[in-house]
Amino acid sequence: MTHPLDRTLSTNRVSDAERDGLLAAPEFGARFTDHMVQMIFDGGAWGTMRLLPFGDITLSPAALALHYGQAIFEAFKAYAQPDGSVAMFRPDANGERMRASAERMAIPALPDGVVEQSCAALVDVDRRWVPTSDGSALYLRPFIFASEAHLSVRPAECYHYMVIASPVASYFGPTLRAISVAVERRDVRAAPGGTGAAKFAGNYAAGFAAHGRAVSDGCDQVMWLDAAEHRWIEELNAMNVMFVWRRNGDTVLSTPPLAGTILGGITRDSLLTLAADGAGGVDSVVVEPTSIDEVADGLASGELVEVFACGTAAVIAPIGVLVDRGEDADASVRLVVGDGEPGPITMALRRALLDIQYGSAPDPHGWRVVVGDGGLSGR
Ligand SMILES: *Cc1c(COP(=O)(O)O)cnc(C)c1O
Repeated sequence: MTHPLDRTLSTNRVSDAERDGLLAAPEFGARFTDHMVQMIFDGGAWGTMRLLPFGDITLSPAALALHYGQAIFEAFKAYAQPDGSVAMFRPDANGERMRASAERMAIPALPDGVVEQSCAALVDVDRRWVPTSDGSALYLRPFIFASEAHLSVRPAECYHYMVIASPVASYFGPTLRAISVAVERRDVRAAPGGTGAAKFAGNYAAGFAAHGRAVSDGCDQVMWLDAAEHRWIEELNAMNVMFVWRRNGDTVLSTPPLAGTILGGITRDSLLTLAADGAGGVDSVVVEPTSIDEVADGLASGELVEVFACGTAAVIAPIGVLVDRGEDADASVRLVVGDGEPGPITMALRRALLDIQYGSAPDPHGWRVVVGDGGLSGR
C-alpha cells in the first residue's frame, strides 16, 4: 500500500562543501540530514505522512512519553551501491519489529508499509547525504513517542512517528579491533514478561549505570546475563551475541534463543541465514542457551574459538575479552577469546554480510531495497 506523502522541502540545506566535510568523517549520531519525516496519531487515526525540513519540534512539558516512557524506535542503514544507487537493508523487517514493539508498549500500530515508504522518501530526498567511503552508511532512525499532554498513567491518545537520518562511518574506525565486554552480575536488562524483546526506549536508560561500570573497568560494553539465574548469556546493550565452536571437527555457530528477553536483531537473523547457507565455512547453526560457565570451559578446552557481537551500528564486533567480576568484586576473571584478536570466521561472516549490504555480492534473500529516484526537484 502506498501512503500519500506531503512534501515541504528545506530552503536552508547544509551547503555542499559543509556536507562533504561531514561525510568525510561523520561522528556517530551527531549530525542529521536536511529533512525528516513526521506523522501524527490523533483522534484515533494516523494522519498524513509529511516530509519536512529537519528541525526542532515543540512539545508540551506534559507530553506523556517524558513521564511514563511510552517510546520505541528502530534503526537500520541505507548503503551506497556500486552503480550509484542507494539500497536500504531489510527495512520491511524493521517495520515488522516496530509493529511488535508498538504492540508491547500499547502504541497504535502504524499502517502497513509506513516505515519502509517513509524511510525511502527520506533517503531519496537526502540521497546526497549517503556517504560512499568504505564502511560508511546513512543510519535511519524511525521512532514513535507519546506526545499527548496528559499526566494520567495510561496509554496516550496522541503520538508522533518520526524518522531522522544521520551519516555514519565504520563504527570502530578504520581498523576493526576486538572489543572487551564486562559480564554484568548486578543489574539485569530484561526479565521474562518484561520489555527486553521490544526496542523500547527505557531498556537503554536502564542499562546506562552498568555501562558506566563496564567502562570504568576498562571495557567497551556490558554483557547481560539472564534475570532468573544470572548464568545465561543474553546480549549486549544494543547487539546480540554469537559463538563459534569447534565440535567433532565441525564449525558450529550458536546464539541464545530470543525467548522474550532478547531483542531479535535483524543482523542476528541475517547472519544465522548466511551461516546456514555456508558463509564463513560454518557447518551448522544452532540456537541454544550458553552459560557464562560454558564460555569459560569452552575457552579453556579450545572448543569455543570465537565470540562476537552483532547489530546494525557495528554490523559485527569481534569480542576479544570477557571480564567477569564474579559474585564478589575480588574474584574478577579475565577470559580471553583465542589470542584476543578478531577471528577468521567472525571476519568471513562479517565480509559476507557487508558484501550484500554494499551491493558487491548477489542478494539471494532479497534483502536490499533500492530507493527509487522519486524525481524530486531541488536536489
Ligand atoms: C537494536 C538492538 C540489537 C540489534 O538489532 P539489529 O536489528 O541487528 O540492529 C540487539 N540488541 C538490542 C538490545 C538492540 O536494541
